[in-house]
Amino acid sequence: MTKFKELGLKDEILKAIEEQGFEEAFPIQEACIPVLLSGRDVIGQAHTGSGKTAAFSLSMLHQITPKKGIQGMVIAPTRELAMQISEEIKKFGKYTGIKTATVYGGQGMGIQLDALDRGVEIVVATPGRLIDHLKRGSIELKDIEHVVLDEADTMLDMGFIDDIQFILDLTPEERTMSLFSATMPTEILRLSEEYLQNPKQFLLDADDLSGEGIDQSYLVIKDRDKFDYLIDFIKKVKGQVIVFCSTKYRTRDVAKFLHQEKFDAVAIEGDMSQHRREQSMAKFRSGKADILVATDVASRGIDVPRVELVINYDVPNQDMVYFHRIGRTARAGAKGQAITFVSYSSVGDWNLIKRQIKTDLKDLNKEMGIEVSIPDPLKRQIPARRYGGSGGGRSSYSRGSRYGGYGRSDRNRDSDDRGRDKKRYGGGGRNRYGGRSKW
Ligand code: ADP
Ligand code: MG
Repeated sequence: MTKFKELGLKDEILKAIEEQGFEEAFPIQEACIPVLLSGRDVIGQAHTGSGKTAAFSLSMLHQITPKKGIQGMVIAPTRELAMQISEEIKKFGKYTGIKTATVYGGQGMGIQLDALDRGVEIVVATPGRLIDHLKRGSIELKDIEHVVLDEADTMLDMGFIDDIQFILDLTPEERTMSLFSATMPTEILRLSEEYLQNPKQFLLDADDLSGEGIDQSYLVIKDRDKFDYLIDFIKKVKGQVIVFCSTKYRTRDVAKFLHQEKFDAVAIEGDMSQHRREQSMAKFRSGKADILVATDVASRGIDVPRVELVINYDVPNQDMVYFHRIGRTARAGAKGQAITFVSYSSVGDWNLIKRQIKTDLKDLNKEMGIEVSIPDPLKRQIPARRYGGSGGGRSSYSRGSRYGGYGRSDRNRDSDDRGRDKKRYGGGGRNRYGGRSKW
């Protein structure tokens, strides 16, 4: 492993790195930093938690001169991620005199304009709001030296491709650019062909699907039994927990139930106001809340070091989403655990994901002696006993009734939400000049 000093970074940056407690560069940092410092473009693929943020932030900070206009720009898909990147840049840039502004939809323009007025060298932005600023002239890209697209595949998934091209077309030709993406679909390769010059590619750990260091398991249970099991698993861990749900309705319900059971839980989902989302994230990050209940908005890129357990309350609808979700634990080489609840109607979806999991996967039904009996639709009403029958003594059925009101099957709810999501993303980049963030 390489020391940061050997990568050629400035002393004032090295001092901040040391304060962060980073001793040696992670492989992606060791690979990218010297190349970026030399001015060559980079495409980086590495699994989550591998330290991509520092890889580009440190290089960017090194190349920037204070008080010479906006020279660095990072584009990220979500406001949470943008804020997190800014925080990291601010920490590393502490002794450089370099200032950073964060620009994202959902926050009043005024605050951002004030920050920009004071003069900054780095802007971290989500695409929609950045375009608003570009159009009103509050951000200019003519002095840009270093552009970063973080989580590029997510941005494409969210329909930001036109926005990104619009932004990149305004940057000077002579600039360093780096693009980070967990996967490399053809659209990303096409984008990089168009905007990157002779990029050096780092496909570190191209086997992104390993989920290495994460103790992964699953449990096939009835949907209405999920809450009881959730509580049992949460009680067993000491660290923080993230619970991923398939829809915002589920997210709200699960958070509500956890509150009723007196857990310190916060929620984050797409319908919440920006302010409330920030409050939730801040509470969770600072450790004031033990549990974060979230839709997939929160699964990308968010880094909270103490997350010990990720529970997929619902099976995600894509294998990549699964790996992004579980990647929220076992950050920076720590140990983590991921448990997926598979309702009977999701067994098919789960089997597709299961095939992609290359490490050991524990079957909790076997381990805990819980029988799986995919029910005959007619027998649905027969209550199932909880495993062992002992723990707590309450039957799952009595608790299950708290879900009352979910008349429909899992499958229906999932597909409903997919429909809604489509609407939410409606039109992809079409309304891009409307200035609304898609989240
Ligand atoms: P990625 O963007 O690749 O998913 P992050 O940049 O969010 O990963 O980094 C994951 C975690 O690793 C963060 O908590 C970060 O502070 C930590 N980290 C990054 N680089 C180092 C390092 N060289 N030494 C120790 N911890 C590091
Ligand atoms: Mg990241």
